[in-house]
Amino acid sequence: MKGALPNERVCLGSYHEIGLKGRNRTMFERRLADNLRAVLEGLATVRVERLTSRIAVHVSEPAKVDEVAQRMALVPGINTVTVAVRTARDIDSMAAMALAELGAMGEVRTFAVSAKRSNTDFPLPSQEINRILGARIREATGLGVDLTQPDVTVGVIVAQGHAYVSTKRLSGVGGLPTGVSGTLVSLLSAGIDSPVATWRMMRRGAVIVGVHFSGRPHVSGASERLVTRIAKVLERNGGIGRVYIVPFGDIQSEVALMVPPDLRIIMYRRLMMRVAQEIATVERAKAIVTGESLGQVASQTLENIAAVDEAADIPVFRPLIGNDKLEIMAEARRIGTYELSIEEAPDCCTLFMPRTPETHAKPAMVREAWDVLPHERMVADAIASLEWVDFRCPGYRPPKRWPTPSGASGSSALEARASADRASERVSNPWRT
Ligand code: ATP
Ligand code: MG
Repeated sequence: MKGALPNERVCLGSYHEIGLKGRNRTMFERRLADNLRAVLEGLATVRVERLTSRIAVHVSEPAKVDEVAQRMALVPGINTVTVAVRTARDIDSMAAMALAELGAMGEVRTFAVSAKRSNTDFPLPSQEINRILGARIREATGLGVDLTQPDVTVGVIVAQGHAYVSTKRLSGVGGLPTGVSGTLVSLLSAGIDSPVATWRMMRRGAVIVGVHFSGRPHVSGASERLVTRIAKVLERNGGIGRVYIVPFGDIQSEVALMVPPDLRIIMYRRLMMRVAQEIATVERAKAIVTGESLGQVASQTLENIAAVDEAADIPVFRPLIGNDKLEIMAEARRIGTYELSIEEAPDCCTLFMPRTPETHAKPAMVREAWDVLPHERMVADAIASLEWVDFRCPGYRPPKRWPTPSGASGSSALEARASADRASERVSNPWRT
């Protein structure tokens, strides 16, 4: 309460995860508070405070309250956001505040009061608070009480030291604060699926390190820029630390010379897994994520998934494996990546593609083709040409081997090349199908 205004605007974030106890709970709350600070940085002068089972974000500029609430709702770990005014912890102050808030609203005919106490030393039980405030509001305004479908619910939270009165509540994305579940490497194309898969794992508390394979130098850097824009959208959730870009075109052309057409896609994918795994080692990530969904395209049959999985020594998570495309598209719209994902940007997947890819790869043939490839050297080449772009993510610590900024490579080089690419985009890809 130090230096706080008496009737300060506050956004209260609630969370719920069963089994949050002891040190886990403190870690969870600290992480959530840090993530909120990062996501709200620069928006308004805010102060983030941990209350019992809630996080309070004090907002200095009343005009910014709604935007603060909306940004908070996108942060994993936040279950609901209540936009409230803080007031003294007595029933008269609560009633006065409720009336002021209702007075500032548009047309309202019915209301309900919903009080909660997170500090039991307050003498009145919640039901009693509901009853008293309900009667006072009805008397003062003539509004009707409707407990099932009220036009507005007046929320009251009685906490330590203060009461909070609200008339607006937003649903948050739920899940766990990013950073409590470790780091994952996510194979991020510019398509619809992988951003959704990435988002899902981020929501389960993982810090994401993306890896994008571009077709450069045989196609332009358009897909790299698109992936960077998609990652910018995911940055609003505070859970993506970095995206690595792997120029993969030369490696693919080498594969195309050495491997029969029908097995090429599987070889590209196995190489992608190996490169991702190498990055995972440096990033201390414990698993890889992809946006595959069973049977969606030729490379996503059970046989081919198994043939690709075999190349990785760490777990590969496919959070969309049982989803229909329509469900994935709806989720992409909700998280805000859909409009970007439908933009055309050829990546490495448009390069050297066979007309009839193998859909039921035989393990023996896959291994034979793999053994022909100098795959260790190819992976080393890919790692040597890595570039990266960093994002705001409090849970992310860049590895010592590839610190920030990335010097000659990284976002500035990416940007510098972007303008050159724009000029040559239409003619640079003789292989495009
Ligand atoms: P998406 O919509 O995510 O692009 P998709 O439906 O196009 O997926 P595939 O092309 O078979 O399906 O890709 C399957 C998965 O492989 C992707 O979800 C992604 O995780 C990974 N992947 C594909 N292409 C790339 C790429 N260029 N860079 C990084 N990962 C990729
Ligand atoms: Mg794709």
